[in-house]
Amino acid sequence: MTINPVLGNDSVLGNDSVLGSDPGLDQLGVAPSPLALLLLGRGSDPASERGVDCPGDLPAAADPSLATRAAAAKAALGDRVFILGHHYQRDDVIAFADVTGDSFKLAQQAAARPQADTIIFCGVHFMAESADILTGPHQRVVLPDLAAGCSMADMATAEQVEQAWDDLLDAGVATDTVPVSYMNSSAAIKAFTGRHDGTICTSSNARRALDWAFGERGGARVLFLPDQHLGRNTAIDELGMTDADCVVYDPRRPGGGLTHRQLREAKMILWRGHCSVHGRFTRASVDEVRARVPDVTVLVHPECQREVVTAADLVGSTEYIISVVDAAPAGSAFAVGTELNLVRRLALRHPDKTIVFLDRTVCFCSTMNRIDMPHLVWALEALVRGETVNQIAVDPDVATYARKALDQMLALP
Ligand code: SF4
Repeated sequence: MTINPVLGNDSVLGNDSVLGSDPGLDQLGVAPSPLALLLLGRGSDPASERGVDCPGDLPAAADPSLATRAAAAKAALGDRVFILGHHYQRDDVIAFADVTGDSFKLAQQAAARPQADTIIFCGVHFMAESADILTGPHQRVVLPDLAAGCSMADMATAEQVEQAWDDLLDAGVATDTVPVSYMNSSAAIKAFTGRHDGTICTSSNARRALDWAFGERGGARVLFLPDQHLGRNTAIDELGMTDADCVVYDPRRPGGGLTHRQLREAKMILWRGHCSVHGRFTRASVDEVRARVPDVTVLVHPECQREVVTAADLVGSTEYIISVVDAAPAGSAFAVGTELNLVRRLALRHPDKTIVFLDRTVCFCSTMNRIDMPHLVWALEALVRGETVNQIAVDPDVATYARKALDQMLALP
């Protein structure tokens, strides 16, 4: 397998297929990879990725009629199908979305469309699971490419988290520890959270979730899953904790690599997980862009590392980032630290503002970009023929407890 020192393995390179035809990238201060590209969706490489085969023939990526075919299939299906597009999704796919948003907003939108018997989720696996949990039993959720996972969600498996809870029991701290799990986690982790009377949170309401866990819920500490950076940044910046209040539980080490005393004295037990996209930004990226762009406002997502968040001017969720850029006066300059598809769309929407990407290196979410036009057309045309492909159906027992944790989030004060 060829390893690209910048982008990772071959499966990641496939997503660069969007780069060659994108003149807007120069404006953002990033450069396309000079390496050869894989054709997305044509076969899989089990050695390097969780690839899947698509039953039937996937349309060729170069087929010039893909947009026409998608439009025709969507029109034939009418209100029976509802297409959700995550903010990080590629342009050609998001053009077919009935609604765009972050993962939770999209799941809520799906639940608000009971007339749609099929929801096509142009996002990643955990988002489609959440949509399945929140929608009615008569609705099916389709993920056009099952290989569209999330590296962060994959960093916490159900078995690892059960082991961690056993470690907390052994240390005598489980009874007053409250699990708080980021939306970006599998249905199994959400169910674990519900079983232990915890809550889900998003990057918009993480502070309220922690306030609830330490306040009304009466916890002495929180087990925060699976993104250590969102947990740490929220605890320190919004609850006034210090680094010393946080410990990192490493699932690959016995006991998480922590002593009983460390577990007992911690207020935040942070899972050792991170987003492979937002984790790429560094303090050097911030320093470099400040030197390059006069009067720039550095605006980053809280999934970024602590050193990036402390060096930034503004920190907030995807929806917050969009609202700040939208509301800024003409002539403003922003360096944005989040997924590149979103940053590029913001730049195109605001030609009167300077909007650059926080890093010089291309930084798409590789798994999100697995959802491409061939897979969307393939899923839509199958529905027209009366077939449902790539349905995401969460086990009912898992769904019950995951829903409990999601409902707790909805009830946060
Ligand atoms: S951007 Fe990060 S957290 Fe979001 S889907 Fe991609 S890998 Fe997961």
